[in-house]
Amino acid sequence: MSSDDKGEPKKPKTPEEPQEPQGPGFPDPDDIRKTLEGMFGKMGKGGFSFPGMTGGPFSEAEGSEEVTEVKPPNDDIFQFDLLPRDIKAHLDRFVIRQDEAKKALAIAVCDHYNHVKVAKDHEANRAEDASGERLELQKQNVMVVGPTGVGKTYLVKHIAELIGVPFVKADATKFSETGYVGGDVDDLVRELVTKADGDVSLAEYGIIYIDEIDKLASGGGGMMGRDVSGRGVQTTLLKLMEETEVPVRNAQDMRGQMMAMMDLQNGKQEKDTINTRHILFIVSGAFSGLEKIVRKRSQAAQIGFSADQAEPAMDGELFKQVSSQDYIDFGFEAEFIGRIPVRVVCEHLEAADLEAILKYSEGSLLRQYEREFEAYGIDIKFKDSGIRRIAEMAAGEKTGARGLMTVGEKILRDFKYELPGTSVTELAVDADLIDHREKHLEGYRELGQELVVEKARHEVEAFIREFKEKHGVEIKLADDAMSALVQMAGEQARSVFQVARQHFRDYQFGLKLIQKNTGQSDFLLTEAAVKYPDKFLSELVVKSYKDAE
Ligand code: ADP
Repeated sequence: MSSDDKGEPKKPKTPEEPQEPQGPGFPDPDDIRKTLEGMFGKMGKGGFSFPGMTGGPFSEAEGSEEVTEVKPPNDDIFQFDLLPRDIKAHLDRFVIRQDEAKKALAIAVCDHYNHVKVAKDHEANRAEDASGERLELQKQNVMVVGPTGVGKTYLVKHIAELIGVPFVKADATKFSETGYVGGDVDDLVRELVTKADGDVSLAEYGIIYIDEIDKLASGGGGMMGRDVSGRGVQTTLLKLMEETEVPVRNAQDMRGQMMAMMDLQNGKQEKDTINTRHILFIVSGAFSGLEKIVRKRSQAAQIGFSADQAEPAMDGELFKQVSSQDYIDFGFEAEFIGRIPVRVVCEHLEAADLEAILKYSEGSLLRQYEREFEAYGIDIKFKDSGIRRIAEMAAGEKTGARGLMTVGEKILRDFKYELPGTSVTELAVDADLIDHREKHLEGYRELGQELVVEKARHEVEAFIREFKEKHGVEIKLADDAMSALVQMAGEQARSVFQVARQHFRDYQFGLKLIQKNTGQSDFLLTEAAVKYPDKFLSELVVKSYKDAE
């Protein structure tokens, strides 16, 4: 069947449907299809086929995993019935402080998804009543201002998880006027489809989170040193934030294009564009310098804020005074800022907050460390003084809660390297251990050694008991013999018990002979017996004959 066949389901092109962007010199999908047909034979309903072949490499039966599954549209999101307080309560389990941000985000998210619900109902009714107007709703895009590592991403991630919508994070510094690094800005939207396991309908209600948005500020206060291209990126993003149709398949992506064609051939009804109308955008940035702009304008300046005084960072109080004009002065386009009506601050975290994160957040790093040590059979316990010290050191890193990871890793690295494989089964982390790591490490090394010796002693005792029970001969091991056995066991990666058994496997014959000759009832085995077992035994036997004479 030819691709031009009249019977094939053809995608109707409506005038308002956006044209798929074509890369420079990239052939038209129809051209690709013709080329591929030339190469592979004709493409039938079941996919590609060679003449005379039954079932093709891309046919539905055999190659169905190659074809993106068509899922029923996900209507769950329209069951959205969370209250702002439910979302805040969920966030409280993981995120410490940032109460204002939690509230504002919870409200924005509830408003957004309630709007979506209303819009969806309205659209359904409009379909029945052709004269109906389209419902205009202002989207609740959010701006989160705050330094690094204070939980901005963490908040958004947990919200997306709770609601069950896909979530994509991007970094504004990776944008250029022409697109996103390694692809184009639309890839962000397509990424939502990937996160939604190919479910385009669900992706249309996803959340896109863009960090370091302040780096897009252009000219303006001139503080960011970014040229006009920031403005271009703002315009590109603005389009996504408003409403646009993004093709599900990237025009540059050969495989994607082929799949799209096959879906078409197979009569699949999959959506081929993603509408961005209901995608929620959350942007964030540190906005250092914004506080100066606000103070300059606000009364604080009039009271007199001398230029050489260190400016305190943005806090909740000052943030209340931030106006749209301040963002425009900072270097944002009025239209861009206008599309982000919800603005909130995430505050700097003090050492006490970092301590609370370790102690009370369900996502506490301590749980992770506990699991990591547990994998080596070590029970790690963090004492209060240790937790406090880690928090204090992390605060010094000035990277918010990220500092906790840096410090935790630094403190525990040597222990994580040295303790696994020793007999140490407990590690207590307190302030003293953190302050004197080398001393404690040495202590654990010695303890490990002692534990090894103790374990070896138990095994040797077991071996002696077994020897006595089996052969009726009592043996003893000198300390140097014991050390030699432990060393050998370590080298051979076997237990001391196994090594002793193998080493002295023929000893009962010689020892019984000696017993007969001399009446000796117990035997002391020294290091020489471990190192040269045959020689040691034969010398003993020879001596016993002499003694008997
Ligand atoms: P950013 O503000 O730069 O987006 P993140 O949200 O990525 O910072 O924080 C990094 C990590 O630090 C998070 O994954 C989380 O484990 C921890 N963290 C940050 N802030 C908080 C907080 N307020 N409460 C609990 N954990 C936090």
